[in-house]
Amino acid sequence: STVLDDECDYLFKTVLIGDSAVGKSNLLSRFAKDEFHIDSKPTIGVEFAYRNVKIGDKVAKAQIWDTAGQERFRAITSSYYRGALGAILVYDITRRGTFENLKKWLHELREYGNRDMVIVLVGNKSDLVDSREVDVEDGQSLAQQENLCFMETSAKENLNVEDAFLQMITKVFKIAS
Ligand code: GDP
Ligand code: MG
Repeated sequence: STVLDDECDYLFKTVLIGDSAVGKSNLLSRFAKDEFHIDSKPTIGVEFAYRNVKIGDKVAKAQIWDTAGQERFRAITSSYYRGALGAILVYDITRRGTFENLKKWLHELREYGNRDMVIVLVGNKSDLVDSREVDVEDGQSLAQQENLCFMETSAKENLNVEDAFLQMITKVFKIAS
């Protein structure tokens, strides 16, 4: 763990991963800036955002990396994962295919990421109840199988977004500090 500056006791890298258009960038903008964007521009992603989180009497600074749309071409490079201690793995509850692809993303995370990386599985777009293609139980049972934390979120309605990130950051903090 790295002592950084006066405001922050620990800095660590975390990543967002999952299929294109599942809502990764909007989850990040919701968490980091409390913003949501109806039309997103996948090729103009920010590289990463920061947020300070107070844990006990310490302050952890989470650096959260977002893709710039490379996942569309399955062209995420190993440097994206390098050094990451936590990950939010996202699927879209309204598109079954994004759930089926989770195994591939998990494989990549485990191949390139830190050995004991904290992974939180997130089923996003929970506000779109009428278009649901993945039951909440499917998310839960995959999470149990793969030993991940799990929750459904809505970046749009700001449901569980804070919880998902804080759960990951707190767990990483406990391991890394
Ligand atoms: P990314 O490619 O994974 O980064 O996905 P984006 O964040 O760019 O989102 C893709 C699309 O899904 C955009 O049109 C967003 O407005 C929309 N979106 C993201 N999150 C939600 C959500 O929680 N609910 C709904 N209804 N739409 C969402
Ligand atoms: Mg994006």
